[in-house]
Amino acid sequence: MKRRKSFAKSHHKAAIKRLIYENGSLSRTEIQKKMCIRPASITQLTRELMEENILIEKGLGKNEKGKKQRLLTLNPNGGKVIGIEFDPQFIHGLLIDFENKIIGQKNYTLPEGTAGNQIVALLKKTIHQLNHTGSTHLPPLLGIGIADPGLVDRERGVSLFCSQIADWRNVPLRQIMEKEFQLPIYVEGNTNCKLLSESLFGAGRNFQNQIYIDLSYGIGASLMTHGSFYYGAQGLAGELGHVQYDKSGPICSCGSYGCLETYVSSSAVMRSIKNAVQHGVISPFLDQIRENSKFLSIQSFIQAANKNDKFCISLVEEMGRTLGEVIANVVNFLNPEAILIGGELADLGDLILNPVKGTVRRQSLELTTRNLAFKVAEIKDRPAARGAASLVLNQLFKGNEFF
Ligand SMILES: [Zn+2]
Repeated sequence: MKRRKSFAKSHHKAAIKRLIYENGSLSRTEIQKKMCIRPASITQLTRELMEENILIEKGLGKNEKGKKQRLLTLNPNGGKVIGIEFDPQFIHGLLIDFENKIIGQKNYTLPEGTAGNQIVALLKKTIHQLNHTGSTHLPPLLGIGIADPGLVDRERGVSLFCSQIADWRNVPLRQIMEKEFQLPIYVEGNTNCKLLSESLFGAGRNFQNQIYIDLSYGIGASLMTHGSFYYGAQGLAGELGHVQYDKSGPICSCGSYGCLETYVSSSAVMRSIKNAVQHGVISPFLDQIRENSKFLSIQSFIQAANKNDKFCISLVEEMGRTLGEVIANVVNFLNPEAILIGGELADLGDLILNPVKGTVRRQSLELTTRNLAFKVAEIKDRPAARGAASLVLNQLFKGNEFF
């Protein structure tokens, strides 16, 4: 009996934490209405959660009769978590409090050819530095989320493979970091982390069934159904970049020909620019590069596209249509609520979104696109690291890994 009572109590406390995590702040009356338990129990449970430093009273709200009520929110000093993202070029780490506020960050740029073991050492160093950021009275670090750039076995926390890091094979990231920090460690693919960020704080907030397409060096994709990630049998779902677009197209890094990412990605853009420069194509942007090669970058390309450079605009529109043709098939097959475009090329905004949208609307079944939303990702600042931190917070407050 006693055990049953204490189970019910911890269950109710977990429910209160989850409600406040999801809603930001709530009054005791609002919590009581959502949970349907006695007001006296809510008073008792919230008092205990405040004594445990998990909740604090912050500000006043009003009930429907206009009566002022104290609001409860998560105590920002109750604990902190770290989210970290990395790839062959950089490491970005964020220290985040219980209110999801960034309270510290650390960034490293990696020299070309940085070896796998050096990356692991730098990840550890970044986490140690973040953990010691700020005053000596910081709350305890409660967990670490890692956004991995390659293929991941998330169950075992093993980073299986990353094509851009030469010696990166079967790296037991969770085990390595657990040994170093004695804390819960979560390892997740970085595209899933980005979608998690968007679904919690950004363009994907109002959708349960959505697809995030990450247009960067290659193409990554993440699929969320009913609020949970779809992983596939071996966790390899989402390889949209390797959907064949044209079998007589150029060879891809995967060994196949004409994959989508050989047409639509930052690397494809760079190839097209170099090709156009060599073949004497005329446009102010290309002329600028001929004069000074420092303008050969994705940022310069995006700026030129925004200034209506003819070459850049036609390349963006062509990419948008190509991507749209593939997404149209995906939409027919999966009937999502929203398509989110993120990654480096998402800074093109409507310039890329419009041709994608137009093509999908023309080529998908009318019923599947009637309520389909197209959005550019909103979280610009370290979206994968933010999502990685949310893996830990979700576990702490929702009692599951969200997916
Ligand atoms: Zn491929």
